[in-house]
Amino acid sequence: MVRVRFAPSPTGYLHVGGLRTALFNWYFAKKHNGRFIIRIEDTDFERSKKEYEESILEELRWVGLDYDESVDKPGQYGPYRQSERLNIYKNYIEKLLNENKAYYSVLKDDETIFEDNNLPCKYKNNNDFSIVIKFKVNKNEEVSFTDLIRGDIKFDTKNLEDFVILRSNGIPIYNFTVVIDDYLMKISHVIRGEDHISNTPKQLLIYNALSFEVPKFAHLPLILGEDKAPLSKRHGEVSITYFRKEGYLPKAILNYLSLLGWNANEQIFDYNQKYQEFELTNVSKNPSVFDYNKLLWTNEVHLRKDSLEEIYNIFFEWINFVLIENKLSKEDEKFIKQVIEISREKVQTLKQLYEFSENFFTDNFDYQEDFVAKFMKKTWFEKLLKNAIDEFSKLEEFTVENIEKTLKNLSSLNITGRKNVYQSIRGSILGKTVTPGLYESIFVLGKERVIIRLKKALEYSKKISF
Ligand code: GLU
Repeated sequence: MVRVRFAPSPTGYLHVGGLRTALFNWYFAKKHNGRFIIRIEDTDFERSKKEYEESILEELRWVGLDYDESVDKPGQYGPYRQSERLNIYKNYIEKLLNENKAYYSVLKDDETIFEDNNLPCKYKNNNDFSIVIKFKVNKNEEVSFTDLIRGDIKFDTKNLEDFVILRSNGIPIYNFTVVIDDYLMKISHVIRGEDHISNTPKQLLIYNALSFEVPKFAHLPLILGEDKAPLSKRHGEVSITYFRKEGYLPKAILNYLSLLGWNANEQIFDYNQKYQEFELTNVSKNPSVFDYNKLLWTNEVHLRKDSLEEIYNIFFEWINFVLIENKLSKEDEKFIKQVIEISREKVQTLKQLYEFSENFFTDNFDYQEDFVAKFMKKTWFEKLLKNAIDEFSKLEEFTVENIEKTLKNLSSLNITGRKNVYQSIRGSILGKTVTPGLYESIFVLGKERVIIRLKKALEYSKKISF
C-alpha cells in the first residue's frame, strides 16, 4: 500500500514550498488509494512553536488536504509528533550502540576527550562534559538510490564524517528520527523538497545499519523567485496565511502550486478531479519560478468559474477570518449569492470582492467624495432623486426589464444627461461610481432597499447644499 507523509517542522508558518510538497504527496496517495500522513517534526525545541504547528494544520484543513491518521491517546491528539516519540528513538539508538554502530563522544571545552560505545560513570551527570552520540560511518560502503524524479544518485562516503545522532541535550537529530519514523510508519515513498537530497546519504546509512527496508525517494524541484534564487521572503510574501488573508481561493492556490514542477497539460483545473492524472514521472527535475501574477490570474479564473455555492462558503469563511465585525448574515444567503454573482466578474480576489460589494450589505455607507462633488452637489440632483423615488415606488413588478425602462424614462425627463442619471442613481444606492451593472444592482438590492437608499441620498444632498 502506498503510504506517504508530509513532515513539516513547526518553525514557521506554512509556505508555498511546504504546501506544494504536501499537495504532491496528497496527489500521490489519492491516485494510488494510499494514505497521506502528517508528521510534525518538532524536535528542535528552541525553534518549534505550538502556534506554528496549529497554523500549519489549520491551513492544510483550509485548503482541503485532509490527512489520514491521527494519534488518539490520552493527552495526545491530531497528527504524529516527534516530540511525543522520544522513547522510541532512544531504543534504536541503544540498538546501534550495542551493535557498535554508534558511540558516545565526550567533549570537554569543545575538545573530544573520550569515544566509545560504553560510557563510564564518571562522565554521566557531570556538567563539565558534553556528551553526544555519533553514528559510525563505514567508509567502504557505497550509498546510492534511484530517485523517482531524478534517476540514479550516488554518493561517495569517503568524505562523510561520523555524524551526531543524539545531541547533548538528549534529543535525536532530524536525520535519525526521520529514518525511524518513515520505517515505523511504513512510508513507501518519501516525496520531499530537493533541498533534502544532501541528507539522503546519511539516512540511507542509518537504514542499512538498522536493516530497515529503504523506501522509494522522489525529490521535488526547487521553487525560485524571479531572480532565480530559492524563493524566500526577500521575494515577497510566501506564507499561505498571507494569501488566505489577501482573499485567494484554496482551489486556486492548489491549482497554481500543482504547476510548480508538474507538467499537468492544462493551466486551470480542480485538484480534486486532477489527481488521477498525477505521475511522479511527469514531475520536472528543473526548478520552477514562482509567478505572483500567474497566481493572481489563476485566482481570478477560479473566482469567476467555480460554483456559486463554493464561492459563497469560502467568501463567508474569509470574512470571518479577516474581519472583526462581520456585517453579513447567513440568513441573507440568497441575497449574498446574488451580490457575488453580479460582482465576481469584476474582481480578482475575495478581498476585492468584499471591497467592491460591501455597500450592498449595509444602508449605512459613506458616499465617495468624487460622487458627492460631481453629482450630489449639482442643482438638478434633488429633482432627479425625487422623480426616481416616485418612479421606482410605482413599479409593481421589480424586474431587470422594468428597472431598465424606469431608468430610460428618468433620462428622457431632461433633468440632466443620461450618464448623470445613471451615475447619480448608482452612487445614491451604493455610495460609489464603480459598481456591478446598474440594472442588476438595483434588482438585487430590491425595491424596498433601493427606495430607502434613494431617500437617504436625497436627505444627504439637501444637507450638504447649504
Ligand atoms: N521536517 C523536514 C522539513 O520540514 C522534512 C523532512 C523530510 O520530508 O524528510 O524540511
